[in-house]
Amino acid sequence: MDCLVIGAGPAGLTAAVYLARFRRTVTVVDGGASRASWIPVSHNLVGFPEGLSGDALLDRLRVQATRYGAVIQPGTVSALSALPEGGFEATVSGASLRVPRVLLATGGLDVEPELPGVRNAVRRGLVRYCPICDAFEVIGQKVALIAFGRCRVKEALLLRGYTADLTVLTLGRAMEMPDDERRTLHEAGIAIDETPVAALSVEGDRIAAWHMQDGTERRYDTIYSALGTRIRSGLALGLGAAADEDGALLVDRHQRTGVDGLYAAGDVVGGLSQVSVASGHAAIAANDINRSLPFPRPERAS
Ligand SMILES: Cc1cc2nc3c(=O)[nH]c(=O)nc-3n(C[C@H](O)[C@H](O)[C@H](O)COP(=O)(O)OP(=O)(O)OC[C@H]3O[C@@H](n4cnc5c(N)ncnc54)[C@H](O)[C@@H]3O)c2cc1C
Repeated sequence: MDCLVIGAGPAGLTAAVYLARFRRTVTVVDGGASRASWIPVSHNLVGFPEGLSGDALLDRLRVQATRYGAVIQPGTVSALSALPEGGFEATVSGASLRVPRVLLATGGLDVEPELPGVRNAVRRGLVRYCPICDAFEVIGQKVALIAFGRCRVKEALLLRGYTADLTVLTLGRAMEMPDDERRTLHEAGIAIDETPVAALSVEGDRIAAWHMQDGTERRYDTIYSALGTRIRSGLALGLGAAADEDGALLVDRHQRTGVDGLYAAGDVVGGLSQVSVASGHAAIAANDINRSLPFPRPERAS
């Protein structure tokens, strides 16, 4: 095998398409928890003007990658070590394999707000995680942005471009926000509501009303949650790769981590968490991986 790709989200599958078309033997091992599979319908995937669900996108990418010979295998890579002679040994669902190049495309996991039925609400677009992706779909709605701890001013200001009725809900938790940022939100007409929530009224699978501890009630059309992402970069960190304060991997312009032969693409790398960015990273990484390996064995002319 020329390359092991860890993760079959948009990044890993795009890399598989490129590597297989470079005539490289590539196996993609996947734990089956792509962030993309949470996308109900995306309207910012270029080339799909009518929108496309995340699952449909992943299906298409899997078909395309396997058409050129990539192998996609369900499982988890639980350990990765660098070999003294170069290359890596990976433990894949208990078995070990050796490979000269590894592309880490393991993505991240959104921190879920503690709300009843939150997963179903995300699938229906009632709770959203990514204003860059889908704020266009909530223009003019009454929107709450759940945020506490480290401030999320950027997300709030982005959303303000789509609705004048925007509240940052801290659910009674502390907001670590310097005074100047608080002032910025105030001047933008964004309310900050730090009242603790006492109870929620749920109708079907949506939150109809928020009952606050001070006896008041709130109603919103759409909830955004900005509690951050847990980056799945542990395998690379264990090999000594560098990361930012959130755990997102630092890479060079060829998507190389500081560990020889180890590349990273998609949400596991810091920056904009978008399908288009994940695909771009993957194309760059695959190109460099191909260049770094000996020529593939030529076919005999028939
Ligand atoms: C609700 C929601 C809506 C979104 N909407 C949009 C949108 O409209 N447009 C847009 O561009 N982006 C959107 N995004 C963001 C987009 O989904 C991500 O940017 C994209 O999925 C990142 O791709 P990735 O391949 O880096 O990671 P992922 O898609 O998260 O895939 C990573 C894969 O790696 C696997 N993995 C992790 N660790 C291991 C391991 N040790 N062994 C084996 N496998 C492993 C995981 O199981 C997973 O399948 C949305 C995200 C969410 C949550």
